[in-house]
Amino acid sequence: MWKKLYIYKVGKKFQSLIAHLCKKGMVDIMRKIGVLTSGGDAPGMNAAIRAVTRTALAKGMTVVGVLKGFNGLIHGDIIDLDVRSVSDIIQKGGTMLYTARCNEFRFKEGLQKGKETCLKEGIEGLVVIGGDGSFRGAADLSITQRIPCVGIPATIDNDIAMTEYTIGYDTAMNTAMSMIDKLRDTAQSHDRCSVVEVMGRHAGHIAVNTGIACGATHIITEEMPTPLEEVIERIQNTHTTGKHHFIVVVSEGHGDAKEIANEIEAKTGIESRATVLGHVQRGGYPTVRDRVAASQMGHYAVELLEQGKANRVIGFQKGKLVDYNIKTALTMKKTFDEELYRIAMTISF
Ligand code: ATP
Repeated sequence: MWKKLYIYKVGKKFQSLIAHLCKKGMVDIMRKIGVLTSGGDAPGMNAAIRAVTRTALAKGMTVVGVLKGFNGLIHGDIIDLDVRSVSDIIQKGGTMLYTARCNEFRFKEGLQKGKETCLKEGIEGLVVIGGDGSFRGAADLSITQRIPCVGIPATIDNDIAMTEYTIGYDTAMNTAMSMIDKLRDTAQSHDRCSVVEVMGRHAGHIAVNTGIACGATHIITEEMPTPLEEVIERIQNTHTTGKHHFIVVVSEGHGDAKEIANEIEAKTGIESRATVLGHVQRGGYPTVRDRVAASQMGHYAVELLEQGKANRVIGFQKGKLVDYNIKTALTMKKTFDEELYRIAMTISF
């Protein structure tokens, strides 16, 4: 067996041969890996940590957890992970490894410190669970510091282009849907309009899906901008058909829910209330979809490291697991489901 053979030392033309030999069990290139969570948290991160840990252990690797994202890598904040360290976490929101944003890691000195920790701890590969910012860090660590990294997309916003799905998205949408259902109850009792801001950063995926799922009269997103007058006109038209309570879903960063509610009330005379759902969408028990996706991605990430792959990010395309060069993945553009938006607008009045 060849021990500690790093893929980047052998040149590109041998990489596929080595990957093949790894698959056959003839080459052993990875003995110890690390896993960290970085950026905003997302329900299902724990399930991914568990999958990474258990897959690596099953392959005879040693696993460590890096605490608080790239901060932990810079400061050597590392814990050993064994099979029981990741017990009883699959159902929990948040991340047992904590997460953080780490500005220092954007610079050469920070990256070098990260590499030093890896060398000191014997970490030969790293699984980075986070969003696109975290993948930039993972790419830099792979390319400039020669520490092989594989990224797992975990963000409730589902705004990473190379994958149809990011861990946490389904749970966040279900949380938002259940909150909006509750708001609808009280809007119905009082003949009110409820304007609800959901998360998504610059992406309207949560807004359009929860909007259609909750029967929102209007959905306001960055991708499908609507002048407020049109929203108000739609409410007025719907009012004349006998509808007395309304839900308007607004995507984060695309209008102030309170101002929109005030404007609706002023123009229609319908009492209106604003609710910003906020961080409640980032917590809670992950749904089946998130736990399964996290488990699949965690397992696949370790397989890629085992095959000597570096600078890769995992995703789902047409329901199948795929992986891309991180730099290539970061240049891709996410599309918005305009058809879903049109359906929502057609059936909610
Ligand atoms: P979310 O989608 O939840 O915001 P994210 O991973 O995109 O998650 P960021 O705050 O953008 O969150 O990035 C997380 C961390 O990744 C940063 O705090 C930093 O440590 C690292 N990072 C971001 N950009 C870079 C970069 N260009 N180079 C190196 N590291 C980076």
